[in-house]
Amino acid sequence: MPRSFLPFWRRAARAMPSPRSLRRLLPALPILLCVLACGYAAYHLSNQAGIRALADNGERQLELHARAVQGEISTHTYLPSLLELEASVTRLLLIPTDYRRQRVNEYLEGLNSRSGSRAIYVMDTSGRVLAASNWRDADSFQGEDLSFRAYFQDAMQGRPGRFYGIGSTTGEAGYYLAHGLRNDGEIIGVAVVKIRLDTLEQRWERARLEAFVSDANGIIILSSDPARRLKAVRPLDDDQRARLAGSLQYHWTRLDELTPLAREPFGAGELLTLPAADANAPPIRYLAQTLPLVDPPWEFTLLSPLQDVQREAWRNGLLAAVAFALVAFLLIAWNERRKVVSTRLAAREALEEANSQLERKIADRTAHLRASNDLLRAQIRERRQAEETLRKAQDDLVQAGKLAVIGQMSTSIAHELNQPLAAVRTLAGNSVRFLQRGNLEVTASNLHTINSLIDHMGRITASLRAFARRSDDTGRAQLGKAVDAAIFLLHSRLETTPVTLVREVDDVPVGIDQTRLEQILVNLIVNALDAMAPQRDRRLWLHGETDGKRYCLTVRDNGPGVPPEARVHLFEPFFTTKPGEQGLGLGLTLSASLAAAAGGNLAVQHPTEGGTAFVLTLPLLDLPGNPADV
Ligand code: ADP
Repeated sequence: MPRSFLPFWRRAARAMPSPRSLRRLLPALPILLCVLACGYAAYHLSNQAGIRALADNGERQLELHARAVQGEISTHTYLPSLLELEASVTRLLLIPTDYRRQRVNEYLEGLNSRSGSRAIYVMDTSGRVLAASNWRDADSFQGEDLSFRAYFQDAMQGRPGRFYGIGSTTGEAGYYLAHGLRNDGEIIGVAVVKIRLDTLEQRWERARLEAFVSDANGIIILSSDPARRLKAVRPLDDDQRARLAGSLQYHWTRLDELTPLAREPFGAGELLTLPAADANAPPIRYLAQTLPLVDPPWEFTLLSPLQDVQREAWRNGLLAAVAFALVAFLLIAWNERRKVVSTRLAAREALEEANSQLERKIADRTAHLRASNDLLRAQIRERRQAEETLRKAQDDLVQAGKLAVIGQMSTSIAHELNQPLAAVRTLAGNSVRFLQRGNLEVTASNLHTINSLIDHMGRITASLRAFARRSDDTGRAQLGKAVDAAIFLLHSRLETTPVTLVREVDDVPVGIDQTRLEQILVNLIVNALDAMAPQRDRRLWLHGETDGKRYCLTVRDNGPGVPPEARVHLFEPFFTTKPGEQGLGLGLTLSASLAAAAGGNLAVQHPTEGGTAFVLTLPLLDLPGNPADV
């Protein structure tokens, strides 16, 4: 909806600060109030103190200037009575002649100019002016009837005549001092001195003093501000106004009241707010202090403007408010900082607590890990011992296996040794007979044959001894050499059980002990021969090939193969299908474990064309040579 079409109250609600921002400002409100209160208190105290100081100073000024007013009048007080001593004046009053008047006129003129008064004149008892100091002037008092003046009447009754009034001839304000002139105790005339007090006003103006003097009627007769002159300081009722108008004391002047805009008592004086001389300027506040004069019965009022005091009070109030705001701000900042510090302290303590907890946990874990480590080390030790025991057991087992093979072959070995032995015995017997006959040639031939037979038997026993001895674990074997040794060990068996042997093996170096490799090969060939024993056509393949860094030797026969139910048990210890003492069931287990220990393995395959194939894989030590058919 366009803004201008919104109803007034909704526009007003939008312009208002949101309740949330108001709530945020709420805590600052008491501080703001305190700042204002502090500023106001400082303003008030400073203002009061300033006014009091002004009042103290005013007291002295008041005394001083009131005395100055009094002094100005008293310097002329003696003048009228002085004329009583002047014989020419007395003579004139007794018998007035033109000559005497002229003499007195000249005398008064001289006296007036010397005393600094405005005018001096002498009146007869009827109130007519006989002689005057201003006899030369056009507006001279001479001949004038001033019997209506109060000062004349007072003087005629023997009282000192004192009167402030505006001259009826000149219209000029002045103060009249009158004295009844006596001759032989009787009043024969009145001497009057008119003085002007505007010198006092000029002096006030020069001293930048604001003051006024009000007479017994409450009319301001002297004022530093001309605008206030001839104003009534207190309300005049109609009778008073009529009386004053009739006396012509203030000529025809309208006697307005000096009405203050505000008025408030303060100590011995009062605080007045008066309009400024310039109507456009703001009203001015004054401290008004009044002191009554003794003679004449006037009142001197001193007006001390409060502008400076107020300005000072404002400045002090502002300073106090700013100082309070600053202190409040510092206190708040300090409090906030204290909160932040305590929060940080709490956070640090929490962190330290967390750290110590973590350290405790780490120590616990470390202890736990150390214990686990110790346990692991113990287990490793135990494993090593177990491995050692196992290896020893394996060695013993190898040895037992070898001995078992030898045991199995013992009959054929005995048979093999018996044949040459019988031949040796026969040849030896024949040789003895041929030697007795002297047939040395046949004897020598027999001895050669005996020698070769003994060599053959030596070779059989040497190979048996080599096979039977414990392995020295060199970790290196020549494959061709191992195949030769296995075939040689079994050659008598091969002779009794004829086999077509196909040998496709490389004489490569492999990573296994020589006798262990021979034992594996003997086991595999013996098992093949055992399996093929019942059949007439026996074939045995020894085929080798390189497979990267390994060498694979396959020993395959064309026997009946392994029955399916027996296949899973082939490598289990003591599994045998051979009857009686013929099988221990350790050959394959041992061979597989020897191959695994060397980093290789032994696996079985059941070719579809029949027979069984055992694949022996061993790590190659050097690069293989060229395969050579056997
Ligand atoms: P043993 O020869 O003492 O029986 P082995 O662990 O060497 O123990 O052989 C376990 C069994 O595996 C043999 O009894 C045999 O049944 C079977 N076997 C091993 N080699 C062959 C093979 N070439 N042909 C058929 N069966 C075999």
